[in-house]
Amino acid sequence: MTLTSRILLAMVLGVFVGSVLNIITNMTWVAEGRIIWAIDILVDDILDAVGLVFISLLKLLVVPLVFVSLVCGVTALGDNARMGAIASKTLVMYLFTTALAISVAILMALLIQPGVGADFVSAASYSATQAPPLKQVFVDIFPSNPIRAMAEGKMLQVIVFALLVGYSITLAGNAGKRTTAIFRDFEHVIMKMVEVLMTLAPYGVFCLLAKLFSELGFEAILELGKYFLTVVFVLFLHAFGIYALLLRTLTGLSPKLLFAKMRHVWAFAFSTASSGATIPITLRAVEKRLGVNNSVASFTVPLGATINMDGTAIMQGVATVFIAQVYNIPLGPGELITVVLTATLASVGTAAVPGVGLITLAMVLQQVGLPVEGIALIIGVDRILDMLRTAVNVTGDATVAVIVANNEGALDKNIFLDPDADVLTEAIEEPVEDS
Ligand code: ASP
Repeated sequence: MTLTSRILLAMVLGVFVGSVLNIITNMTWVAEGRIIWAIDILVDDILDAVGLVFISLLKLLVVPLVFVSLVCGVTALGDNARMGAIASKTLVMYLFTTALAISVAILMALLIQPGVGADFVSAASYSATQAPPLKQVFVDIFPSNPIRAMAEGKMLQVIVFALLVGYSITLAGNAGKRTTAIFRDFEHVIMKMVEVLMTLAPYGVFCLLAKLFSELGFEAILELGKYFLTVVFVLFLHAFGIYALLLRTLTGLSPKLLFAKMRHVWAFAFSTASSGATIPITLRAVEKRLGVNNSVASFTVPLGATINMDGTAIMQGVATVFIAQVYNIPLGPGELITVVLTATLASVGTAAVPGVGLITLAMVLQQVGLPVEGIALIIGVDRILDMLRTAVNVTGDATVAVIVANNEGALDKNIFLDPDADVLTEAIEEPVEDS
């Protein structure tokens, strides 16, 4: 079995075992008997511990990988004028796809009307955290202390610092050449580390999902069925319809191949619900399986994980319409446009960790005068939606990376077209000697 198949199998098994545990623990004879004690140890200690270790191992890779890889990317560009072109194309694509995602989400929610006629208790309470002012958001992109930025995992600051280091290396003549060589070697080592950690993925993914599903009650999904299904429908439509269309029309490449090569990345995104923690896996897949040159991938992937959240925007679009319908507050065209604009910005400001999309939703609701307490209505199903939307978020990053690379002549089509490119089979491959 390839590693991807093992990870996907682990995902299915994790959901299954977790759901069975959930059913068992809710049976009265179990809840009152002694067996519950054993289940608690299994879930709260063993599964939880392995899952947490797995997430930590993934996260530990993020900052060194992004930093080293981006420095290498900038130095590889040589002609620094390209950096500006890559950056602006990437930004435009990210904002465009997010605005498109939320527009489709709003349209579908208006058609399906998930919040009309349902009997929801509006005794919901949710207190919003205050969103920082726009000026602060801008100032915060620039680090005053790169070590603190890395320690706190502030990805935009790390990206700015890496761009600066890479750019300075290209100006530094022979010293720059020597430094580049060191960075390249280090990048090779870190990529190997990604490989090592990926072999642990089946166990990590299994434990994360088994623990989560053993705790999730499924009643909430039934109650909020229409809202849940509307979000899921638009997520699928966006991933398999809009990305496919964009890729096909802008590059002529096969979306089917891209999706096939993203399967294991989805498993990581789904089980961690964090685009940030998935960066190492996305980056590796985008470079080695999809053929995007490091100079483009190292910039687009970490930036996308941080600011491009189409899946999150979709949830926010549907949620806003849903809450307006539940509270019977009509939204006019002006308000809908405001939702598109604020949700696009909210997606930029959403941190790439679980559940933050729900927090930034408060900002969108406030902007159009909807009650923020409405968020409490949808919290019950948000975790599963979070997992699904994170998978869409990373798919968006990869698709844009391929489109920009193709446009910049930085896409190796032989790699893209090779279905077996970088398929990880068993354990770690033989060490590769560089020429
Ligand atoms: N979990 C999402 C991500 O990491 C963000 C969110 O929607 O909460 O991409």
